[in-house]
Amino acid sequence: MILLSSGYHNKVLRVDLTKGRTHIEHTDERFYKVFLGGAGMGAKILLDEVPSHVDPFQPANKVVFATGPFQGTRIPGSAKWSLVSKSPMTHTFGDSAAGASFGPSLRGCGLDAIVVEGRSPSPVYLWIEDGAVELRDASALWGLETFDTIDAMKSDTNKKASVAAIGPAGERLVRFACVVVDKHSYAGRSGIGAVLGSKKFKGIALLGSATPSYFDGGALDDIRKDITRTMVRSDRGKELRAWGTPGGFATYNALDNTPKKNWDGSSWTEEGKEMETPHYNEALNVKPKACLSCPLACHRHVSFEHPSYGVDGPGPEYETLAMLGANCLVREVRAVAKANDLCNRYGMDTISAGSAIALAMEAYEKGWFPPHVIGDLRIDWGDPAIVLHLIDLIGKREGIGSIMAEGAATLGATLGKEGHAVHVRGLDVPGHDPRLCYSLSVNYATGTRGACHYRGCPEETEIGGFLLPEYGVTKKPRFFEVGDKTRLAVIHQNFGAIMGSAVLCAFMFVEGEASISRYLDALNAMTGWGWSFEDLSRCGERIYNFQRLVNIRDGKGPAYDVLPKKLLTPAPDGARMGKAPPFDDMMQECYRMRGWTRDGYPTREMLASVGIEPSLYEDHFDLATMKEVIK
Ligand code: SF4
Repeated sequence: MILLSSGYHNKVLRVDLTKGRTHIEHTDERFYKVFLGGAGMGAKILLDEVPSHVDPFQPANKVVFATGPFQGTRIPGSAKWSLVSKSPMTHTFGDSAAGASFGPSLRGCGLDAIVVEGRSPSPVYLWIEDGAVELRDASALWGLETFDTIDAMKSDTNKKASVAAIGPAGERLVRFACVVVDKHSYAGRSGIGAVLGSKKFKGIALLGSATPSYFDGGALDDIRKDITRTMVRSDRGKELRAWGTPGGFATYNALDNTPKKNWDGSSWTEEGKEMETPHYNEALNVKPKACLSCPLACHRHVSFEHPSYGVDGPGPEYETLAMLGANCLVREVRAVAKANDLCNRYGMDTISAGSAIALAMEAYEKGWFPPHVIGDLRIDWGDPAIVLHLIDLIGKREGIGSIMAEGAATLGATLGKEGHAVHVRGLDVPGHDPRLCYSLSVNYATGTRGACHYRGCPEETEIGGFLLPEYGVTKKPRFFEVGDKTRLAVIHQNFGAIMGSAVLCAFMFVEGEASISRYLDALNAMTGWGWSFEDLSRCGERIYNFQRLVNIRDGKGPAYDVLPKKLLTPAPDGARMGKAPPFDDMMQECYRMRGWTRDGYPTREMLASVGIEPSLYEDHFDLATMKEVIK
């Protein structure tokens, strides 16, 4: 019997592209109390329905567009939604979150999630208006860049629709292709845009105004107003609105948290001046842009002309400045803004694009490219023109771009220089250095989607002083001291699992000074579950460990809990000269804290203690050893 949960629609739309059919499936409260929604729900679907032998580009892979209970409530941070699939970069659990207004629109259509499976014989997109579902021919859209696709889908459906779409990079199976939402937000990481491309699925347009029934709608409304007031008054929130994530560049760069020269460089403070605020805002003519119901408005809209190019659209985030700027030694902020714009329009992740380009620059400098591969191309450090050219080649999969489109990990392996590609489990390391923030070493190595600064953001505590008092994180630790940094990573990963499943924007807590307790009040007002903080915290630990089970089942378990050698090699000079985390010791501490075996496997007892009963995973594991049963 279905046990309906308040705060959810209890409905998931299944889209079978092979048969061109859709149907509704009902979910119930027992499921949501275990997995919450979003990335938790996606992990459960992957474990149950996408066997380990399935290649990410085979029709049997699935893509989950999932909300959590918060979408549609208009509580700040609730515009987010999660995209989950087997990643073509890591070949295991992959997820990415985007915002704009797509998450609330999905719930407005009376759904908690959409699962896309199979492969269409020809390009299609999905149009949902309230309860009416239609698969439409997308042949005329195939080949269009993302922004034009979104405009065309809106004009074909309704200009008020929220649209998530892939671009040419996804169609051409660039392994780090992303999904672009409403022309200003991105599900960037994990390459799920390419999975959609393999399915001949161009995107989804949504319009609807349904709301689920809430346990206590009056209390929920009061909590929403209270949270919004807190955020509007927050000084950190005002700074985020003024400067966006690029506001962090000056501090990060001065500390050598920002990567330079494919992670080998340091001391780039003078060279990085153009990226810093207020110059960034002046050079790019910035206006803040917000996801739905968010007073923080961290996104940047930029507009400028340049003798060779102009941009009128989303501006580069900090990660893009770090990966396509500093890590490639490109100093000109307008060039990085143009590179960002190109990636957006092709539909590819700027972090992974920057990682592949920085490796290509190192390879060119050191003469690793065979002459027949490199031809006459010069790939010099700091050359903005070559960065733009390489993005074009990747987006079109032409020449050297075809190898680079496979990602930095494959490029490194192709050149016989695996150790120079900076990734974990195949996902490129973002722009924060674990040789400064030691907690990141564990956080990256055991990240369930690979190297990630968001599904665990302990660097925000180490650098920015972001505290989590409910978890006992009450003061900023000192750099280069191990102290409690393993615990900090574990706490952030568990917290990140809640953010990815609830689904919420972590900036509400990092910058908006919102309290976890108040959001928990909101969850209880929606669902009537009466959860304590301990219940919520256990839920985060449960979801994180469940995603770990997917990693292990897919053969990407403890053997992949490693960091690239570059990130354990001390710098010869600069702000973190001579420093590197004691990685092996921290990993053993992590396994112990997690309650895993010494070789990194969760035990049955440990899993049961966080609410993962054997019935949830016994088909995939040898219960005696907890080692994976490959199916
Ligand atoms: S802080 Fe930024 S990413 Fe988060 S909801 Fe607001 S605008 Fe969107």
